[in-house]
Amino acid sequence: MRCPFCGSLDTQVKDSRPAEDHVAIRRRRFCPGCDGRFTTYERVQLRDLVVIKSNGRREPFDRDKLERSIRIALQKRPVEHERMDQMISGVVRRLESMGDTDVDSNAIGAIVMESLARMDTVAYVRFASVYKNFQEADDFDKFVSELRPPNPEDE
Ligand SMILES: [Zn+2]
Repeated sequence: MRCPFCGSLDTQVKDSRPAEDHVAIRRRRFCPGCDGRFTTYERVQLRDLVVIKSNGRREPFDRDKLERSIRIALQKRPVEHERMDQMISGVVRRLESMGDTDVDSNAIGAIVMESLARMDTVAYVRFASVYKNFQEADDFDKFVSELRPPNPEDE
């Protein structure tokens, strides 16, 4: 695994342990070249999902992108990172088990909302308020870009 800090390929795994109730393996890695430390996660991937947008454009499903939008909705909420990871894994698992490699961008938003609603009401409302615009705009990129961190003065 290439070091994200210096680009060296000579990195070492210092620690591996199960995460998210054994759905993932978390590895702590170390780069002797720059003393950098970073973490990687290994997860089962059942399918290579493709997101279909309303304009017909296709793009590979990006878990990190999904995580960014959910992380913003959950900002400053009392939800542990581990629980968020579990929730995202649950969303991905549902998408993977829908029986088709192609998933509609609207379907992703709907499943995320459903999951957030069970986890944290404030995050759900934040996400849902953007999702409404999303349905009008019908574009996942716009959706994510509208999910800005809330202004602290509004809280
Ligand atoms: Zn390095």
